[in-house]
Amino acid sequence: MEKQSMDAVEMDWSTLGFAYRDTPWRYHCDYKQGQWQEGGLTASNHISLHESAGVLQYAQTVFEGLKAYRQKDGNIVLFRPEENAKRLEQSALRLGIPPLPQGRFEEAVLAVVRANQAYVPPFESGASLYIRPFLYGSGPVIGVKPAEEYSFRIFTTPVGPYFSKGATGLKLWVSDFDRAAPRGTGHIKAGLNYAMSLYALMDAKARGYDENMYLDAVTRSKVEETGGANFLFATPEGRLVAPASGSILPSITKASLLAVARDILGIEVEEREVYAAEMEGFAECGLCGTAAVLSPVASVCWQGREISFVRSSHPEGVLQRLYRQLVAIQRGEQPAPRAWIRPVL
Ligand SMILES: *Cc1c(COP(=O)(O)O)cnc(C)c1O
Repeated sequence: MEKQSMDAVEMDWSTLGFAYRDTPWRYHCDYKQGQWQEGGLTASNHISLHESAGVLQYAQTVFEGLKAYRQKDGNIVLFRPEENAKRLEQSALRLGIPPLPQGRFEEAVLAVVRANQAYVPPFESGASLYIRPFLYGSGPVIGVKPAEEYSFRIFTTPVGPYFSKGATGLKLWVSDFDRAAPRGTGHIKAGLNYAMSLYALMDAKARGYDENMYLDAVTRSKVEETGGANFLFATPEGRLVAPASGSILPSITKASLLAVARDILGIEVEEREVYAAEMEGFAECGLCGTAAVLSPVASVCWQGREISFVRSSHPEGVLQRLYRQLVAIQRGEQPAPRAWIRPVL
C-alpha cells in the first residue's frame, strides 16, 4: 500500500449522513464452472452485467451490512464479522446461491477495509465505515432457475447516522402492507424484501411518518419489524422486550444489545411474541440494526391512535443506557464480551 493512501482523507466527517460516497477499492470474486474463483481488489465502482443475469431478471441477490469503527488509539476494528458471514451463508442457501468458501467472507472484508482505511472516520466524529458485501446471480437465466454464475462483491462507504432526527425520536406508521410471509424470506437478508417495502415506505412518508412498523402477515396483530431494523421495547418497570418471530431478520445488533442487557447491565430480557395492543403499556420503543444502531421511536400510529413512548430518548431510560454501552464497546471504551471486537491489522 502506498503511504499516501494510509493518511486520513479530508472530509467533513461530522455532517455525514447515510448516503453512498465513493472509496477507492472494492473486493470482487466470481463463481463459475461450479467453483468460487480467486478474488481480489478492484478500483472501478461499476459492474458490467449480462442483460439476462439472474439478479436482474429474478432478483437473485442477498447482502450483508457491517461497520468498521475507529477506536480512540486510532486502531480500526470490526464488530462480530463472523455473525455476518454465517448469516450471508443462510441467506445464500435460501435463494439457491452457492455459499462462499469457509473464511472467504472475513478475509475479503479485512482486505477491503485495509485498502480503504483512510476512509474510516476519526474516533471523535462518531461516524464509521459502512461495509456492504453482496452476492448476486450474474449468469444468464430466462427459464426460472438459479443462475450458473455468481459474483461476490464488497464496497465500503463512510457513514454517519441513518436517521437524521435521531435524538428526538421517530414517528412510525403501522403499514397496511405486509413485509414477509411465514415460511417466506423475511428471515434472510435479500434485496427482494426491500424492493417490496419501497412502495409502503413512500406511502408512510406521504402520510408524514418516518418509517413503517410491519405486523405479522397472518393475524396482523403482532409486531414484526420495520423495513430494515428490529424493534426493542422497555416496560415502565425497566424490563426489555424483544419481538420474536420466524419472519423477521435476526439482527446481530439486537442479539448483542440483549446480551449486553442481560450480562452487563443486569436488565431483565423477554424475547417473545409482542402484540400491537400491548404497545400502550410500554414506556420506550427503539429500532436496532447496524445502520440504525438503536434509534428512539417517539410514537407509532396504529388503528387511528398515536401511541407515544415518552421515555425512549430519556438519558436514564433502558434504551439510552443500552445504546451508550454498545457504542462504548464498539469504540473500545468498554471491554467487549467474548471476542466481539476484531482488529483490522
Ligand atoms: C439488516 C437488517 C436488520 C438489522 O440487522 P443487523 O445485523 O443488526 O444489522 C434488521 N432488519 C432487516 C430487515 C435487515 O435487513
